[in-house]
Amino acid sequence: MMKPDIVVIAAHPDDLEIGAAGTIFKLRSLEFEVHIFILTSEVNSDIREKRKTEAIRSAAILGVSEENVTFLDMRDGYLVGNGGSVRKVKALLRTKGINPRIAITHSEHDSHNDHRAAREIALGALRNSLILHFGVVNSLIRPGFSPEMFVDISEFRDRKVEALKCHSSQNDINRLQWQNMALFEKTMAQSIETKFAEAFELTIQEGAQDILPFVGMVDCSQFGRFWRQLITSREIYCLFSAPRLRGASQWLEPATSPARSALSRLRDAFSKNSMANYSIHEHSSEEPGIDLLFYRSNVLLEGGPVSNRIAQMYFNHIPQLRFLIDYDMPGVRNIRIIDRWKKTEHFAKYGNERVDGIRETIEDLSILTIIRNPFSADNVIVGCMGIHAWGTGACINSLTQVAILSELSKRVKLPIVPPFLGYQVLMHTYCRTDELQVDWATWTELDAATSTREK
Ligand SMILES: [Zn+2]
Repeated sequence: MMKPDIVVIAAHPDDLEIGAAGTIFKLRSLEFEVHIFILTSEVNSDIREKRKTEAIRSAAILGVSEENVTFLDMRDGYLVGNGGSVRKVKALLRTKGINPRIAITHSEHDSHNDHRAAREIALGALRNSLILHFGVVNSLIRPGFSPEMFVDISEFRDRKVEALKCHSSQNDINRLQWQNMALFEKTMAQSIETKFAEAFELTIQEGAQDILPFVGMVDCSQFGRFWRQLITSREIYCLFSAPRLRGASQWLEPATSPARSALSRLRDAFSKNSMANYSIHEHSSEEPGIDLLFYRSNVLLEGGPVSNRIAQMYFNHIPQLRFLIDYDMPGVRNIRIIDRWKKTEHFAKYGNERVDGIRETIEDLSILTIIRNPFSADNVIVGCMGIHAWGTGACINSLTQVAILSELSKRVKLPIVPPFLGYQVLMHTYCRTDELQVDWATWTELDAATSTREK
């Protein structure tokens, strides 16, 4: 797929520099085509022309040529997000022969009415698109502003300042704004551990899912990048296992199980990474009717077939999977991972000491599965399945760890489309130290068409 065109829709000259100059420059360096629409102009014609010249000079510094800068000359201070304005923008896009799929515009959390109107216009003028909303720091309403995407601009910050300096007619006003801007960029940078960052709220319009990987090229938040591309509907159902309590303290209570605490860590990670608008629902795999959810939603399957009914009834029957957990009850020590391609078995390792009649688990094994749901192609199944709860917990935990996510982002091609079904990898958990090791040598791309029997 070709790189989608980008349109920046800003209310005034200098808005886009304050909110997104570093990102625009970065996108230009990656050879994205960027168009700039500045919606309003000043009534006084001398100032108007001066500001246009400034805006064109600034755009050039960001790598955007003069013919890609358009002034719509709507009235400064009176911008409205109605059908008329939307039609004007649409008509201009048509005459210019551009069909942008990404827009960069203002946030709704802004006290300036022109800024909010520009946002409305951008949302109305584009379809099947991804909208990145920036903040103009001095009119930004915080804490309302809740960015999900962070772009490291440390390398390009000089250029941003240089672009902003072009707006010399605004210098007196800008001095204070500049200090606030730097402070704001530093605050935004904390979540991706860099010096300066620009931050954006996101609107993912219907049909924009295919654009997400392109945004991933500038988005520096590993966690966000991975999950946003995986779960485009922003909703995932965790179907957790129901440990069978069979005498002794052989099975951990759900509340204290490592898998349960890993789930709450995952939930925390979503809110820490400014993705609190993602819904993570939790249901027991034993709940009546839960099968339906499995058929029509994004699901995280927690636990293997011994304790998770859905894993047992559905997951284990997907013929293309390479790794599965199998068992012979009642001897739980027989639980093992089966490699159906190599026809081998993997067991957890146990110590000799017996606690409550059973031997201590020293090393647990788990399977991380990321596949398209074979029953509903728009949804994914994330399987976190340990032989025991330690492995399951570690598997879920791994999905919050930046190093692992960045490795996964390199290997998982999203969205997962045929001929791929998805991916599986094995993980080792050293229970005494809580150390987790992903066995990348077992990384497997699964073919949607071929079943294991044919391998
Ligand atoms: Zn403005």
